[in-house]
Amino acid sequence: MSTPRIPPPLAGGARGADALRPLLDIALGALREGATARGGPLPAGGPEAVAERVRAAAHPVLPDRGTGPETALRTLIHALTEGAADPAEPLCAAHLHCPPLAVATAADLAASALNPSMDSWDQAPAATALEALVTRALAAEIHDGGDALITTGGTEANQLALLLAREAPTTRGPVRLLVGANAHHSLTRAAWLLGLPEPVVVPAPAGTLDPAALDEALTELGGPPGTFLVAATAGTTDAGLIDPLDDIAELCAAHGARLHVDAAYGGGLLFSDTRKEQLNGIDRADTVALDLHKLGWQPAAAGLLAARDPRDLDALNHRADYLNADDDTDAGLPDLLGRSLRTTRRPDVLKVAVTLKALGRTGLGHLVDQVCDQAGEFAELIDAHPAFELYDAPAISTVLFRPAGATDHHIAHVRRRLLTEGTAVLGRADLDGRRWLKATLLNPHTRPGDLAGLLKLVEETAAAPTAEAAEAAEAATDRTEGTTPR
Ligand SMILES: *Cc1c(COP(=O)(O)O)cnc(C)c1O
Repeated sequence: MSTPRIPPPLAGGARGADALRPLLDIALGALREGATARGGPLPAGGPEAVAERVRAAAHPVLPDRGTGPETALRTLIHALTEGAADPAEPLCAAHLHCPPLAVATAADLAASALNPSMDSWDQAPAATALEALVTRALAAEIHDGGDALITTGGTEANQLALLLAREAPTTRGPVRLLVGANAHHSLTRAAWLLGLPEPVVVPAPAGTLDPAALDEALTELGGPPGTFLVAATAGTTDAGLIDPLDDIAELCAAHGARLHVDAAYGGGLLFSDTRKEQLNGIDRADTVALDLHKLGWQPAAAGLLAARDPRDLDALNHRADYLNADDDTDAGLPDLLGRSLRTTRRPDVLKVAVTLKALGRTGLGHLVDQVCDQAGEFAELIDAHPAFELYDAPAISTVLFRPAGATDHHIAHVRRRLLTEGTAVLGRADLDGRRWLKATLLNPHTRPGDLAGLLKLVEETAAAPTAEAAEAAEAATDRTEGTTPR
């Protein structure tokens, strides 16, 4: 067969929508059938069974002659859906992995169809204007007159926060990062990436950064104002705890240290009228990381770095003649290259803007309240259950618990067993010298019955004999039946 003379249809242009519609029908059908085939929060059978089905669907990856769009879409989307850990399932609750809202996902489809690239105005005229509006509006939720950059998430936002601190006019010498022992791993990695001195790790004995220990560390290290960057966390990865932001901000002011708040998880509390006070003091931070692909129900990626002083962002200004020639900028074309370290960049702002407009602050705040309330109820259920131990009342929507009397080893085994049986996706955390199961509740559709069912499942799985225990028992039987006397 010769190469087809008519190229495949495009997604954009006046005819793009008509070309997309039948393909979308196929894609949506495969999503529906794949979810039914999976029939639970994740596929049963473990990695090898999943990989085998993916191999069957994808092989050959690059055929000499293609299958055409229908088969390719149907088989691969079906395989990916059947093999997904789907956060829209109530028992898929391990990580800060949110089920995206349908409205945000529909908007993201439009972003793909139009494919604006956010590195120059001539690739994204309207998207540029929208990004400027939305980032400023979201920044204003934290700092009056602040600005924000769109990032791929908390990792990139933390990296940028460290870079802006390194480059800030008020910084003297190589800025030294101080992080709580509870901080996200991306902060120390960013310090390494940016060639900063080895970070100082401040104890967080109760799961949150201890202000007295921070004061001591800053005092001991000494140094003039502009020497230190303190990174606090609002919503720790393991336990969802919030550092005492106001106290930390006070100490930073006293020691002339810059403050970054990693609110990748907890930042969503800003939308809730009743819970935003948990973030008191966040407005005193120089920079704040916020992920709307967590408590914001966006498909990844939807991260932000908010800066109190928009001039801090000048450090990222950059010139490339083909994208932002001086005379183009002088003539009034917006200069976007300094809004990111990336060049080609998706208009992640579109889904965010659509969601904010569709739900409003009240709608988003309600979703935040729902998952936090669920977490509170789940914790009460655990606390009242004699077979379980609760770590603590949740600060946001993370609940840590363990089967009473279980060893750490057994807890890890229970988690893996749930994964391979395809019945539940729970996380794990080692805190206070013990291992815990972790449920991060981010699904507003989850009902109390789902969580009661989850607990029952964990109870049964924890009580079931392990393969190792069965083997040990068998070995013991062999010994008694054999010649070796006991
Ligand atoms: C999720 C998270 C990150 C990392 O964010 P990504 O979006 O995965 O890059 C960083 N810090 C905290 C506190 C987080 O919860």
